[in-house]
Amino acid sequence: MPDTLHQPEYRKDPLSDAWVVIAAERNGRPEEFQELPVHRVGGPCPFCVGNEAVTPQEIISYPAAAGDRPWKVRVVPNKFPALVRCADMQPALVSKTFKNGTPSLFTSLRGHGGHEVIIESSRHAVSLTDLDDEELTYTFQAYRDRMRCLASEGPWKYVQVFKNVGAAAGSSIEHAHSQVMGLPAVPIRVAEELAHTKSYFNVVGRRLFESMVEEELAQQSRVVDQSDDFIAVCPYASRFPYETWILPRVAAPRFETSGDALVASLGRFTATIVDRLERTLKRPAYNYLLHSAPFDRSADDHYQWHLELFPRVTKPAGFEWGTGYYINPVSPEQAAQALRSA
Ligand SMILES: [Zn+2]
Ligand SMILES: [Zn+2]
Repeated sequence: MPDTLHQPEYRKDPLSDAWVVIAAERNGRPEEFQELPVHRVGGPCPFCVGNEAVTPQEIISYPAAAGDRPWKVRVVPNKFPALVRCADMQPALVSKTFKNGTPSLFTSLRGHGGHEVIIESSRHAVSLTDLDDEELTYTFQAYRDRMRCLASEGPWKYVQVFKNVGAAAGSSIEHAHSQVMGLPAVPIRVAEELAHTKSYFNVVGRRLFESMVEEELAQQSRVVDQSDDFIAVCPYASRFPYETWILPRVAAPRFETSGDALVASLGRFTATIVDRLERTLKRPAYNYLLHSAPFDRSADDHYQWHLELFPRVTKPAGFEWGTGYYINPVSPEQAAQALRSA
């Protein structure tokens, strides 16, 4: 494959204002759309210790002053980024005209973004539950530290942290890793949550997430687990079977302001919930993602960072794509009961 075919770009759907990333240099060959094997087939794993030269130059590794100690967690730029850093750091809007000065319907933005990979273990671990306590802590510290760092760089409005485990969850490398993407615009999913939490705050005078935690704890039927710092619930309108959200007990809009103790506690708690999922569903493919307030600080009063986790046991089909509604064959109350007893 040539080094650069096309620069990735954001394209806005004129019917919905949703942005799509066209990353044509990433995945162009038809054979790349065949089912990927879940397990590594031959060849060295690029993320295992000893193969550091295969990945791009490391951004940071943990523990910080490793000296002779081997690294436990490493952060590297994505070798095949969906978005690339532009030299001038400004996301230039490409406005075109159609004819006679009529603005074109087709708006695009250069595919400007930071795309990093967090390698969560030097061993060939696969799931979050394969990590030891130290690796868990460093992984969640890396989420926070990379968000802090990208926030201070300037051009990003939002950072998306996410993890794909298993081919059905979109992962092409088996070795445990997460991804971090700095984005020049606030994604539509986050914008929707911001709009709802803001209008709730304006009417009721408190954070929607605080009310949600209070009501879930009172009802108990969708609560999966609790710790001093977090509760895990199958949300009332779960889109997917066994979808589970992790909500902090103490409200804070931004994940990157979390202290070391809270970050370590989140790592352990998330692994506990993934373990419950894996016992219930025999190690399914899964995704999780962190939602946090954008960097512009206008959401400080009403938003609450949280983690959304879902196993990939159903596939959105025609109805879901057509309507935006999800048909979920397992009620969140049933799911929570199964996860509690796992
Ligand atoms: Zn490996
Ligand atoms: Zn969310």
